[in-house]
Amino acid sequence: MRKIIVAIDGHSACGKSTTARAAAKILGYYYVDTGAMYRAVTVYFLEKHVALTNPKEISRALTDIKVTFKINPAGVTETYLNGLNVEKKIRKMEVSQNVSQISAIREVRDAMVDAQRKLGKSRGVVMDGRDIGSVVFPDAELKIFLTADLLVRAIRRQKELLDKDELVDLDTVIANLRQRDEYDSTRKESPLIKAKGAIEIDTTHITIDEQVDEVIRLAMGRMINKN
Ligand code: C5P
Repeated sequence: MRKIIVAIDGHSACGKSTTARAAAKILGYYYVDTGAMYRAVTVYFLEKHVALTNPKEISRALTDIKVTFKINPAGVTETYLNGLNVEKKIRKMEVSQNVSQISAIREVRDAMVDAQRKLGKSRGVVMDGRDIGSVVFPDAELKIFLTADLLVRAIRRQKELLDKDELVDLDTVIANLRQRDEYDSTRKESPLIKAKGAIEIDTTHITIDEQVDEVIRLAMGRMINKN
């Protein structure tokens, strides 16, 4: 069977990463969480106080940043910033509150898109984000656009934060998701859109297993079909 690219895009917290990670495992593909890459850049920019209005400083900072992924002993992909494991740090609320602003910067996007294309150049990847099917790999064999009700997404995200020992009230989570959706969908550089040819899956009333099954079913179809 031929190797394909599975691009999974959609709003914040509608199960993209969970679905993409599980689908990659079943297909034996490499999983790339592009949101984690933008989050790692955000951690660096916040820690080094990079001036977001200074393009030169931004470009210089980007040349100092290397984001990589490693699979931990439990089989879970974790994010590394310049060799340091930042998996926990990048999921913090402070990062969520700054990442959309930083990922809207053209220089940041150019650097990340370039890195993402390199990671997918041999195909055989499942990549999730906001612009994978529209910008990074417009030629992806399978494009999925996930959606879900805001409240359902907020409850899921709140639970994820709690699992990582961060208690955030539901109103704050809802406000953050709403704000990021708005920012990501209306920005000038690569706004979140449903890519041409993308298949929409509403995850409000379905389980993760059902989401994954549907992605695998569609992926198998594309892997067999040479057209
Ligand atoms: O997927 P996740 O919610 O972790 O992404 C964090 C943020 O990174 C998004 O809200 C968005 O601002 C940015 N992002 C992006 N393009 C991508 C992936 C994420 O702009 N491909």
